[in-house]
Amino acid sequence: MAMKNVIATPEYRQDTLLEEWWNSCEKGNLLPALKKHWRIFVLSVFGNNHDPGKEERLAHKFLFRPMEYFLCRQDPEVVFEELKAKNMPSQLCGKVFKTGEPTYSCRDCANDPTCVLCIDCFQNGAHKNHRYKMNTSGGGGYCDCGDQEAWTSHPFCNLHSPNEVNQDEKNPIETLPVDLTDRASALFMAALQYIVEVLTWNQCDNLPSDLQVEGELNDTYITMLFNDEVHTFDQVIKTLQRAVKHCTAQQAREFATLVDREGRATVYRGCFTSCEQCRTIIDQSTSRHGSKPLKVQVMHTVVVAHQTFCLRLMVWLQKMIEKSDGLRRLFCLLSMKPQEDGKSLMEKLLLHDTQLWKVARILSHQLLMAGVLMDQECKKQFAVIFTKWYPNVMRDFARDDHDHEVCVASLSVQIYTVPSLARMLVTDHDLLDVILVPFLAACEEKKNANGVLSLSKADRTPSFKRACFMLYDLKYALLCKPTSDEWSDKLRESFLRGHQSFLKLLKMMQGMDEVKRQTGMHLEYEPEWEGAFNLQMRVDDVISSFTEWCSTDRTVYIEAYKQAAQMLSQCRDTTQKSEQHTVCGHTVKCLKYDVQSQPVSIHLPLSRYLAGLHVYMGDYNLQFGCPELNVQGLDPVKMIEPPLKVQVLIAQSQAGLWRRNGYALLNQIYFYHNVKCRQEMYDKDILMLQIGASAVDSNEFLIHLLNRYGLLLWIRPEYDVPTGQDDNVRQTIMLAEEFLNLLLIILGERYVPGLGQVTHEDTLKREVIHLLCISPMSNSELSKNLPDSTNLKADIEDAIHAVANFRKPTSVGTAGSGKFELKNECYKEFNPYFYHYCRTDQSQAEETQIKRKKEEKSANHTLPPPVPPKFTPQFAQISNLLQSDVLVHILSLILQRSVAVRSRSWSETQLDRVLHLIGLALHEQRRNIHEGNHNFDFIGKALKGEPNFTQLLESLVTDPKNISHDSTKDLLSWILQKFIEVRQMTSSAEANGPVEQLASSSKEENEAAKKRKARLAAKRKEKIIAKISQMQQNFIRDNADLFESTDADSSLTRGTSEMDISESAHHETPVALGKYQSLPCSIGITKATCILCQEEQEISHNSRAMVLAGFVQRSTVMSQCKSRNPTDGENLDPLFTSSDLHVGSFTNSCGHTMHADCWQSFFQAILVKERRRLSRIPHSLSYNIVQLEYLCPLCESLSNTVIPLVPALHSLVTDSDLCDVNLSFGDWLDGLQKTVKNATKQESTSASKGDPFPFLPSSLSSITKMMADSVASNFQLLWQYVNNTKGGRFSESLMEMMKKFAKDVYSFGLGVDPDDMNHRVSIVAWNTCAYTIINLEQYLRYENKPLFGASPSRNVDCINALVKFAAVCSHIMPQEVIKKHCLRLLSGLLSNGLGEGDDPQCIIDVDMFHYLVAVTMALPSLYTEGTTASNLPLNSLNNQYILELVLTAHIVQVMLLHDRSQDGEEGKGWVLLYDRSQDGEEGGMEMENDADSVALMSMYTEIRRKAGCLPPSNNDPLPWQLTRHIKRAVLPFLRCATVLYHNLTGVPIPAQLQEWTEEVEPFCSYLSLPTSFSELFLNQGELLERVVNQWCSSDVLRSRLYSASSRSVVSYPLPVNHLIDLPDDYSQLINQISSFTCPSSKGNDSQLPTMCLVCGLVVCSQSYCCQTEIKDMKVGAATEHTYRCGAGVGILLRVRECQIVLLAGTKGCFIPAPYVDSYGETDQGLRRGNPLHLCKDSYKNLQKMWFTHCIPETVAHNIESHMNLMSIHWQHL
Ligand SMILES: [Zn+2]
Ligand SMILES: [Zn+2]
Ligand SMILES: [Zn+2]
Ligand SMILES: [Zn+2]
Ligand SMILES: [Zn+2]
Ligand SMILES: [Zn+2]
Ligand SMILES: [Zn+2]
Repeated sequence: MAMKNVIATPEYRQDTLLEEWWNSCEKGNLLPALKKHWRIFVLSVFGNNHDPGKEERLAHKFLFRPMEYFLCRQDPEVVFEELKAKNMPSQLCGKVFKTGEPTYSCRDCANDPTCVLCIDCFQNGAHKNHRYKMNTSGGGGYCDCGDQEAWTSHPFCNLHSPNEVNQDEKNPIETLPVDLTDRASALFMAALQYIVEVLTWNQCDNLPSDLQVEGELNDTYITMLFNDEVHTFDQVIKTLQRAVKHCTAQQAREFATLVDREGRATVYRGCFTSCEQCRTIIDQSTSRHGSKPLKVQVMHTVVVAHQTFCLRLMVWLQKMIEKSDGLRRLFCLLSMKPQEDGKSLMEKLLLHDTQLWKVARILSHQLLMAGVLMDQECKKQFAVIFTKWYPNVMRDFARDDHDHEVCVASLSVQIYTVPSLARMLVTDHDLLDVILVPFLAACEEKKNANGVLSLSKADRTPSFKRACFMLYDLKYALLCKPTSDEWSDKLRESFLRGHQSFLKLLKMMQGMDEVKRQTGMHLEYEPEWEGAFNLQMRVDDVISSFTEWCSTDRTVYIEAYKQAAQMLSQCRDTTQKSEQHTVCGHTVKCLKYDVQSQPVSIHLPLSRYLAGLHVYMGDYNLQFGCPELNVQGLDPVKMIEPPLKVQVLIAQSQAGLWRRNGYALLNQIYFYHNVKCRQEMYDKDILMLQIGASAVDSNEFLIHLLNRYGLLLWIRPEYDVPTGQDDNVRQTIMLAEEFLNLLLIILGERYVPGLGQVTHEDTLKREVIHLLCISPMSNSELSKNLPDSTNLKADIEDAIHAVANFRKPTSVGTAGSGKFELKNECYKEFNPYFYHYCRTDQSQAEETQIKRKKEEKSANHTLPPPVPPKFTPQFAQISNLLQSDVLVHILSLILQRSVAVRSRSWSETQLDRVLHLIGLALHEQRRNIHEGNHNFDFIGKALKGEPNFTQLLESLVTDPKNISHDSTKDLLSWILQKFIEVRQMTSSAEANGPVEQLASSSKEENEAAKKRKARLAAKRKEKIIAKISQMQQNFIRDNADLFESTDADSSLTRGTSEMDISESAHHETPVALGKYQSLPCSIGITKATCILCQEEQEISHNSRAMVLAGFVQRSTVMSQCKSRNPTDGENLDPLFTSSDLHVGSFTNSCGHTMHADCWQSFFQAILVKERRRLSRIPHSLSYNIVQLEYLCPLCESLSNTVIPLVPALHSLVTDSDLCDVNLSFGDWLDGLQKTVKNATKQESTSASKGDPFPFLPSSLSSITKMMADSVASNFQLLWQYVNNTKGGRFSESLMEMMKKFAKDVYSFGLGVDPDDMNHRVSIVAWNTCAYTIINLEQYLRYENKPLFGASPSRNVDCINALVKFAAVCSHIMPQEVIKKHCLRLLSGLLSNGLGEGDDPQCIIDVDMFHYLVAVTMALPSLYTEGTTASNLPLNSLNNQYILELVLTAHIVQVMLLHDRSQDGEEGKGWVLLYDRSQDGEEGGMEMENDADSVALMSMYTEIRRKAGCLPPSNNDPLPWQLTRHIKRAVLPFLRCATVLYHNLTGVPIPAQLQEWTEEVEPFCSYLSLPTSFSELFLNQGELLERVVNQWCSSDVLRSRLYSASSRSVVSYPLPVNHLIDLPDDYSQLINQISSFTCPSSKGNDSQLPTMCLVCGLVVCSQSYCCQTEIKDMKVGAATEHTYRCGAGVGILLRVRECQIVLLAGTKGCFIPAPYVDSYGETDQGLRRGNPLHLCKDSYKNLQKMWFTHCIPETVAHNIESHMNLMSIHWQHL
């Protein structure tokens, strides 16, 4: 119901009004004066529900223009121009990004990844030549060009480079005229006050009294609906339809979209009672299921009107301040000026943010931003204010439910990422603490009894998740790390305050999600683990930032370290007991703890943070226990406890002790090691253990480890003596393996700067090397497995290039990514015990490396431990472990157990690890010798004891009976040799000679043993192979039928091989038509094997029918008029096909043959099975069973019908020597025309007016009666043959299949319900034959391939089957129907048959090849008698004359349309058949005009004169040009005709045509046509002349040709369609699309703009705003467009996601867009952001897929392999 009581618009005098305002302004009370005006006019403008345009005009006239005049005192435009001239040229670009616009970030120069450029600045600046990333903006944010703080170099683009003189900072307000400043101050202040007053007003039914209209309020109310995050679109739409009177689905959808976009919408206007009623219904119907109801309010119109005005006023103010620097500064200062209550107006808006609806928030933010962000001085002040209110803003945000980007909290990124502002705020305003305190408060609520955070999923309030946004702010605030000389005392103080708060957070996280080993029963439910990991990942960046800050100042470092150590000691369990253990004479007091029974947590951020700090100790010459770091309780033994427990937990889990704890633990362990988390988890734990190893005595350290691993018993020699009591031996073996592994890591992993003598680059290179040792990788695989680049201090790309070579994809022309391969010299770095390898990585890498060594044919296959870098002095003590008594004892023990005949606690893995440890020790010893350091003496200790290491190693080398792996044996020999070498180097080397000898002799022996073994192995292998091959033979014999040949091609016997064709061509050039027709041979399939029953069978007309699997679809790929929608199948009259080919039906086949009955039972079986399944899970298939779709049982091609195989047609004719008829073309034509005339004459007498085909056929005799005798007899003779065939005796099964195929072609080809009896059935069968041939012809033309011999046999077979089917399909139709079709067809050309219906109306509208096929197939029925047909289109003379007639018509078309094809820009085809430049070359030369050309030229002039063409002009061609053009233009038609008649007659193809040719002559001679086309016109009798005249003198033709408005006409040759051209640079595409707005919601942003690659149209996809309905189904814009543009099949590009959507009906799939980065990789979803360029090959493949109708097939296969695609509602896209 619309509001009736419209308030009349009051009048006012502008000068009086302005006078009053100026006066009040001078007195200092402008606001009351404004309000007096507004309270009348705001209501009349915004309270009357005007249409938007009128509202806009009125608002300008009554509200805004007076203000502008008030401000300027004269024409505002003039004043604003003057002000603008005074502006300083801005150095800031500041362009605000819309959603979807491209942004660029320079990886070389950007200070942080949030610094971005707009496309203009990027393209006009230096960074485009740097390494950059590209992305699409999510909306908001602005271009940082010109901001010196954002870039390390090149801060300006060419557009924003600073002018010479503007650096002296001047207050821009001083440039304003004084009186203007006064007025502006008053106006801005008044406007802002009004805005704040109205927007913070919280009553719905009245306003402050000075805004209230005098007198009673009208009873005019509004029901206002607000958005929320709970209800879905559909719920809202349904509710509205119920609650609001007369609300249609469309309206409801519009309301819902509006609410979603703007945050609220008026859904109803009326009196209070009805509004309230509406509100109640909405409230009740949405709160039914206990959920929160939708928010609805009934508001008085006057309130809404003023709120609306506020929004406009904000936009207006923004426009004002953007006009002048001075006005902007003025506005900002005013808005930040404190009012009486101490708060400024801006602060009031800030604090009120979450109470506003969406669009009001956005506009107020924009106003603030447009003011403060562009002015450095104001921005600073704003930053302070924002920080002051930060806790309040964040508290409100956490309680709010709007998206982050529409909350004022999101402005933080604009402030805190500016380094100078952040530094100022941290120093002077305690920013770190300001952020952390409210966050800690939020955490406080999540603490458990132990004071540790517990983030359970059960607690569903999102407020904690929202609070986590503060961590981003913290990260921003820490971005600008101070250099050592930037620290001030104030900064230190404030930083350390924040640091302390941060440690409190880490303390709350220390010990999250403790786990306890389950014994007995499995855990009942999986415990929580995700929340803690999510928090950890968010904190990661902050942790590394804090560490870095600490590392730049000694004072800060020491304080921070102490704070952290103290905090950590508070977490310690003080009740922990200790016990004493003695190993190798060393007694140690160990802490008591049992990981198997006491709780362990994987979350230790505080310990790890301390470890991270610790590595910087060396930078300040500090160490454990030095006086500066005197912290109580700083005990390294206690510090290693927590990380050690985690290592033991993981080792036990590996050993299978934690099986009952389920997946939660496994997931925790997985993520603990995962590349996303390990930097602040696993890596730091190892670091802490290394710190411990450097600070604790080596023997003591090892005893602590052994104790925690529970291995103190295991290292006793007597452990190996079986006692039969310990049944945990297997677990102990594994724990020992893990223990040795940990030692290898502690000793070998030195790639941490500060720990080892390495750089950050070295660290990264080592990661890359180890990844590439697994296998060569593409760039994306590498970056996926490397840590996030933002946290790294080295450049990933540099590291990769330093160690690897890029190899481009090998095969040329294929789209694919290249791979990185490791440089040869880097392989020596390979360490199988690299700590970031998981088990699979490790074994895979080892395998790859051994294989590589073997391929290199190097004699030595050893993969020895690489030489590690040196420890820094602070950590040097770690290597001492290698010469400690305990370790030497362990090594010796395991070597002894390896040698021993029996050992229950030994494993080869232990030995391998021990050998690696020995290797490390030898490296260390060697290094020490080189450096002259004699304190390290591993060799000495190893040679003590009995037996010593040399003896043990030697006996293992000589008798490796316990060792099964070759790699271990190789390593053993290597170690022994190395041992001897190093031993010789030490001065303590005693006996060089003997050892050497021994070593070499043992080596020889070893070789001999190896050879012996190899011989034995070879023998064994031989035996096995023999056995296997015997088994295979047996299997083949038993299953002979299976092995015969299931391959499709070999199972068919084709009549003629290509060889035969060329053979026959030697004798004479074959001719397919006319008197001199050559003898046919059998082509197509003559014999086939059924893929279902494997039986072979001859194709014949009277036996069991055979069929090809086939797929019929509607198609628009060849449409010459993309703007024209395919005609609805129900209303289509398909007899004449329109020359623009705007829709057709295409049939293809995979070429697999089946018995008709075999196929039927196969299909029945699917039906039964799927019906059963369908009832349970609908849409569960990749094919649509309702549409009769199925997958070919052999190759799984998508199919929906079967094509019957008809034997060679000539074999069906009994009387092959068709009588020699002597009939001229003219007489033939005359006879046909008489028949048509006779039939139409009879029509007028026929009474049946309702008959849509008012023709009555006449008998042959009634026609011959009208002819001269000789002609009559010949004409009679010509039609004699029709009764001579045996076609009528087709077997029942063949007839049945023919009917089935005809029915399917009809229903799928037209997209209509099946209808056996429809008269159009046979026409559609002819048309699909024609359409498929044209498609093949065009495709081969595009590929420059010959018509024959180049296409796959399945296409050849399919077309052959289609042609033969078209020829016989009249057998399944009533003859009357075919006769009528024939008469209609003939009358189209010979009488006035065109021009009556809608389509086509004149000669140029008809596609002549479709016509040719139809008339060829229909003509034999013209004079048949009786009801059943028995005729085949095999009469060579008939066929010849038909072809001549149709070709004549086609040449007339070409002549009429000649000028279109000359200039036709549309003819800019994919690949032009002829290069036009050829003409250019010869253009200068005068070509000879032969007689044919001259004759054609006069025909041309005549025809065009008749058609009413203007007199000859310059555009007219020269005769030779015309001839050439005609030949070029009719060639496609001749090529199609050749395919048709070849398949129809079986006359072989001449050799010339098996190669690519552009000559028409070979086609003419095969088709028995004259090569001089003028002969088609001349001397053919005056009848033809009359007919041609008739074609050309049609009025429709004239208007079609010469009035611009009418439907477009085609040009010949028809260009081959192609997908639209795409730009090379992907960002260009993004930019192009960024201006696209949703067409159905007033220019608003579209979330998923999607571009049709067929026509280039962009639609707003997958969105409610653009949903429509097709056949009662709700569909998205993409589906809707596809339905119109591609008859249901579509290929579209989702530009923002860089992926292609393929749609086929209601199914679809995603594939990557054809854009690749420099590594040849696509970026689906635009996640990596590398610059992308068009990959021409991939795009060509897409074109091919589309043009050859393979999209439905591709979709089906994609769905088959990605079952999750099934759940997408593709039709909503
Ligand atoms: Zn810019
Ligand atoms: Zn710029
Ligand atoms: Zn750069
Ligand atoms: Zn079969
Ligand atoms: Zn197949
Ligand atoms: Zn839309
Ligand atoms: Zn399109």
